Amino acid sequence: MKTQLESQLNPSADEREAEKKAKQKRRRKKPAAQASQVPQSSSQNTAGAAPEAPAPTQPPKKKRTSPYPGQVMPSLFSRRAGISSAGSAAASDKAAEAAPAGGKKKKQPSKTKSAQPQKLPITPAPSALTSPAALGRQSSPKRKAGAAVRIISLGGLHEIGKNMTVIEYGADIVVVDCGLAFPDETMPGVDAVIPDVSYLVKNADKVRGIFITHGHEDHTGALPYVLRQLNVPIYGTRLTCGLIRSKLQEHRLLRSTKLHEVRYGDVVEAGCFSVEIIRSNHSIPDACALCIRTPLGNIVHTGDFKIDPTPIDGEMMDLARLGEIGKEGVLALISDSTNAERPGYTKSERTVGAALDRIIASTDKRIIVTTFASNIHRVKQIIDAAEKNGRKVAVSGRSMVNNVNAAIELGVIDVPPNVMVDIQKVRHFPPEQLVIVTTGSQGEPLSALYRMAFADHKNVAIGDNDLVIISASPVPGNEEMVSNVINELMRRGAEVITNKQADIHVSGHCSQEEQKLVIGLTHPRYFLPMHGEMRHMIAHAKTAQAMGVEPENIVLSEIGKVIELSEKGWRFGGSVPSGQILIDGSGIGDVGNVVLRDRKNLAENGLIVVTATLEKGTHRLLAGPELLTRGFVYVKEADELMDHLRAAAKEALVRCCDNNTTDWSSMKNELKDAVSSAVYKKTKRSPIILPMLMEV
Ligand SMILES: [Zn+2]
Ligand SMILES: [Zn+2]
Repeated sequence: MKTQLESQLNPSADEREAEKKAKQKRRRKKPAAQASQVPQSSSQNTAGAAPEAPAPTQPPKKKRTSPYPGQVMPSLFSRRAGISSAGSAAASDKAAEAAPAGGKKKKQPSKTKSAQPQKLPITPAPSALTSPAALGRQSSPKRKAGAAVRIISLGGLHEIGKNMTVIEYGADIVVVDCGLAFPDETMPGVDAVIPDVSYLVKNADKVRGIFITHGHEDHTGALPYVLRQLNVPIYGTRLTCGLIRSKLQEHRLLRSTKLHEVRYGDVVEAGCFSVEIIRSNHSIPDACALCIRTPLGNIVHTGDFKIDPTPIDGEMMDLARLGEIGKEGVLALISDSTNAERPGYTKSERTVGAALDRIIASTDKRIIVTTFASNIHRVKQIIDAAEKNGRKVAVSGRSMVNNVNAAIELGVIDVPPNVMVDIQKVRHFPPEQLVIVTTGSQGEPLSALYRMAFADHKNVAIGDNDLVIISASPVPGNEEMVSNVINELMRRGAEVITNKQADIHVSGHCSQEEQKLVIGLTHPRYFLPMHGEMRHMIAHAKTAQAMGVEPENIVLSEIGKVIELSEKGWRFGGSVPSGQILIDGSGIGDVGNVVLRDRKNLAENGLIVVTATLEKGTHRLLAGPELLTRGFVYVKEADELMDHLRAAAKEALVRCCDNNTTDWSSMKNELKDAVSSAVYKKTKRSPIILPMLMEV
């Protein structure tokens, strides 16, 4: 009986194992096209691409009163006469319909109102549409009397993760970003958390496209799940599209997805909106900000950004363009709040290169550097510093290999010839000739650095001839894991340098002075801090206020709340379904609160299964009761307790028989209660009790 039961219990473990294997298989199945430059070791099997900010998600907050309650403004356009014409860059459907061919606009495809655009409706810049002069010439946009622009965050507020902003006007919706969040300790067994997009699914015929600001997981990670419910065009820049492409390939969604690559300066027509792609700087190449022209005015969405005057690709955020748009008039600025509490400027990425170079030049030890896999420019600097010091570079960790390969193939970075070596061949090189770039900067179990630290890496054994550089800072919540790995590396004799000892990491997010610059240049009427926890959003709100944005025009919203901007002012216009959908394996949203509660309970208190065989009809006890436990006590050392529980179970069953309680569920409840209270009396614990009765 026990063995039968065990096999009934064990499938979950087996399934988990099978699922794990399936996942590994999926991970290994990489696009053949990516197999070039960086030698890829088939043995690599690391945790997924590290996002820049896998902060724990918070459960959706209960209603909270905003410190900046909605107020009706005198007139939306009274302060800035220019705004009313600024929105006119949005190509009017009516105008397009009136002059389908040879109109004054240089637009190729004239869109139909109903269908989602099939062709890529892009105007390369600089175009007549984007120039302020042209904007000034444009007459009335297709503004509908009394209609409001609705801005809804489905994620990314009061959290750093699962970013998604919906902008809606009349019969059109554009979406900015589609990210995931990583599960926190309250979600055992959950792989990822994505936003609830039921509002978009319900309004699928209105959605003109999803614009992705950059390739981090908290902006792209939900795409494979959302696209299954909502097949709309996706727009992104070169590397963003490259990373999305391999993600979609993994999920077998590439063919069915309309993925459009855009360049800086492009303007994409999307229903009544037009969306301009603006260069920005961030900790991943090819990041962009967006100017979304609506019939009521321009909305600038910064995406994640910093202002790096000396970025690795040499191109600074397009502040001039932001200034021009600011002169046209900006209805609302939606901006990155991550570092809103930090005064000053965020340092340039280039400063890290110099520090890395100094460290590499000063030692003969083998160097192992870990950073976020998506920080391609950091990797480029590591490679350059290695080459300068006569060292070869090997890459370890699946996501690192994939991202670096993608970046090289797309031309995002170029790598000097004969520098890269296969991770499997590192043992052939003396320590002073080698730099190993690896995943694991957050101490993630299964990452390459973690496996090195715990002597579980196939090709790298850590010893006292190793210098490990952690070129990242731990995301809040990961400190302990990172510390764990550092301790283990040091135990094996390695020297470890973190951000505390040298300037080997800079943030990808703007500090206060950069936030001020963007607010000053765009001069928005309404300010919506985003991408941050409450404290970050409030700090950002204060900065905006100091920059002259009217306090009543600063909107601290919540996930799912509808912000309505109209000619009368702004107000909260109700809310839409929102929250978190949990992903476990291939299941989307099938793990709910009840399942989570059981998992937590199982993890904390364990499980006791009580089985007994009863005679058919009389319900007389024939065999048992037997007890089987998991995660409760080690049975072999708890004979006395188990005997006691068995006796309690037997007593309950005999009582049922005597009282003629023959209904199955009442018997199970009696049995459960009896064992449960006996356990509690003896141990003060409340494991899950699972009664199983059989009739013969
Ligand atoms: Zn982000
Ligand atoms: Zn980012």
